Amino acid sequence: MSGVGIQLTITGQVQGVGFRPFIWQLANEFQLCGEVYNNAQGVIIKVHKTHQMSAFIEAIQERAPRLAHISDISQKTITTANYQTFTIAHSCLGKMHTQIPTDVATCQDCLTELNTPTDRRYHYALNNCIHCGPRYSIIERMPYDRSATTMADFAMCEPCAIQYRDPQNRRFHAQPIACNKCGPTLSLLNNSGEIITQDAQACIDECVTQLKQGKIVAIKGVGGFHLAVDATNTEAVNRLRLKKHRPHKPFAIMARDINAIQGIAFADETERAQLQSPAAPIVLLRQNKNQSNTELAHNIAHNIAHNITLDMPFIGVMLANAPMQHLLASRMHSPLVMTSANLSGCSPVIDNVQAIEQLGSICDCILTHNRSILRRLDDSLVQVIDGKPSIMRRARGYVPHMLDLPKGFELCDSVTAFGADIKNAPCFIKQGKALLLPHLGDVSNPAILDELSRSLTDNQQLFAHQNQLIVADKHAGYVTHQQAKILANSENLQLVNHHHAHIAACLADNGIAREHPPVLALVLDGLGWHDGSHSQATHSLFGGELFIADYQHCQHLRGLPATPLIGGDKAATQPWRNLFAQLECHVDDWQAQAQENRQGKPCALSQLQQQPIALLRSAIQNNLNTPLASSAGRLFDAVSALVSDCFAEQSFEGQAAMKLEALAWHDFTENSLDLSDFKRSYPSPNIKQMWQQIMSLYAHQTPSAIALFFHRYLAHLLLFWLRQAQVQVRSNKVVLSGGVMQNALLTRLLVHGLQQQQQVPLCHHKVPCNDGGISLGQALVAWAQLQERT
Ligand SMILES: [Zn+2]
Ligand SMILES: [Zn+2]
Repeated sequence: MSGVGIQLTITGQVQGVGFRPFIWQLANEFQLCGEVYNNAQGVIIKVHKTHQMSAFIEAIQERAPRLAHISDISQKTITTANYQTFTIAHSCLGKMHTQIPTDVATCQDCLTELNTPTDRRYHYALNNCIHCGPRYSIIERMPYDRSATTMADFAMCEPCAIQYRDPQNRRFHAQPIACNKCGPTLSLLNNSGEIITQDAQACIDECVTQLKQGKIVAIKGVGGFHLAVDATNTEAVNRLRLKKHRPHKPFAIMARDINAIQGIAFADETERAQLQSPAAPIVLLRQNKNQSNTELAHNIAHNIAHNITLDMPFIGVMLANAPMQHLLASRMHSPLVMTSANLSGCSPVIDNVQAIEQLGSICDCILTHNRSILRRLDDSLVQVIDGKPSIMRRARGYVPHMLDLPKGFELCDSVTAFGADIKNAPCFIKQGKALLLPHLGDVSNPAILDELSRSLTDNQQLFAHQNQLIVADKHAGYVTHQQAKILANSENLQLVNHHHAHIAACLADNGIAREHPPVLALVLDGLGWHDGSHSQATHSLFGGELFIADYQHCQHLRGLPATPLIGGDKAATQPWRNLFAQLECHVDDWQAQAQENRQGKPCALSQLQQQPIALLRSAIQNNLNTPLASSAGRLFDAVSALVSDCFAEQSFEGQAAMKLEALAWHDFTENSLDLSDFKRSYPSPNIKQMWQQIMSLYAHQTPSAIALFFHRYLAHLLLFWLRQAQVQVRSNKVVLSGGVMQNALLTRLLVHGLQQQQQVPLCHHKVPCNDGGISLGQALVAWAQLQERT
């Protein structure tokens, strides 16, 4: 007998997160008869109609599982079968609309099992349940079922199968579940790929022994291999630096749990919440440099090696987030350095064969298992600025969570944006939501460019995504621009200015509607090519600019004075070139001042004097590979070349700027945020005046004092611009975007200053302020412009 019923369709991140057993339990509580199943749209519930329907729907929304994100619950009247009970039915295929879950750090219940000798899953290195474990990294296709994952080849043993079928168990339909008896197993290999042991306990024991002896071990993680060494062993860290050709860039460390970071770094409540969140990202923390003074005597033995961060005041910390990492960390009694495992020039390794081929020359042994990783997911990176978390690198734990778009973008669909060249992370827009794909890195590296093509094809299939509108940066010299042209036809390619994309990404991150009136937007970064047709500037390489913008339009108001990039691209790696350019442009008699300043003592200025100055001057005069650029990044490099030891060469992007920020933090106090002294002393600030001040401070002030002066003066100058420009717009919101906003000190100065002058700062949170967030902005600008035209 059939009857009148209701069908509920629930969309969002509702599969693979324990949603159906949750509905089953709830339906039993409400004494409903019917069924629940997954289809490609999401979760479908069919029940006989009762007066309890609205209470039932309310309960779904209020009590949904921790990892679920409900986008929408729609209902319609149907004719139902004659249900006697409530059941969980099989999944049905169809057109894909639902979201794919993210990879989640090991939950407390699984951790307890891991450490309980009587438990079936005691010390099981791939333990997981409905609340935790791998997802996006192992899913081949949708809908999400075990047969569609890299767990397909592992048949469940009977006890696992019983749990899998039991709606009251937290492993009900948890697709990747396994145990010591039926699941993937560990192997410890030497660096030629020969098996040392495949006994689970011996693998961990031997790996710990090797780490304690200062060896480098390649360890398979959730989204790829890490190279690990004991973080308290200076020599081991040094060896890792040499082998990875990574002389200075700070490493991140992995600690057993939140208590294990005490004495190493300071974490406030927000930072601790980030560390312990299901995404378990690397969080940038202030390092405790006086570790031996700590009261926590037991930590003294765990003083971490100084060469992990060298002279940087911050340290990237993550907590163990997979069972195998927990097993290692609990045995190590000290944190591990964990860095992505790749040879320079290659992409990070995700499979066992690659690990043996590529990592053998770097590591001493390899700890791996036979559950395959389908997609590379680097560790995500978060920084808390002014009490608010901001994602700097978006990958494991965050991708592929769909981001809601602001009002006005509901119909935005089938857009593919390529993003930027250096921190590449493409973006799909699908049915009014944004899918920011995993961070890949620098696509000028052919291996990473290959990954970009593969990632686009793979995710297009996985998400049944259509490329109707293809978007790229306007600069024809960008690799991403060229790739987009290959994929697009003449009609569906849209090009967007670099800085406009930054602004739109920030607007969307703050939920600013498409029809919102234009706002002021400050974009500070290394370099972005700007199509000069809407600007008064005579140069096209921008990076320290003020705009008036909305999603459709972007008008350039003013920028830092343009200075020559001496030697073109070389200026990005050799800070002294920028110091020379700035002094030539802004300080009339810098060579004479250099003589007086330090009375012949060796300093950056005397080093600069040794460069072929006449030759460099003639290059500038004759426009020989000295394009003009108004880059904030290069200005930081210039000041850093003067006061830090980063003069000749930086070994990684942002090194000079990070050193300058580190120096400034040394002298920073909360009083530094108040810029009223600068307002009195420098009522009409400009870069020329700033350099003259810096030169006069140079003779008698410490590098830290000058670094702090520079940060405060620059903030003062930018805030002055923003005050002056306010009359040109109705809105008092101000976008703060671009990679330079990763500088927490400058961002704090700007945020504080804007609040003082009754303007509302819009900072980045879920979408990186650096080029990793650009693809979202590109997609929205291109689509909004297209709507305006049609
Ligand atoms: Zn779990
Ligand atoms: Zn089993």
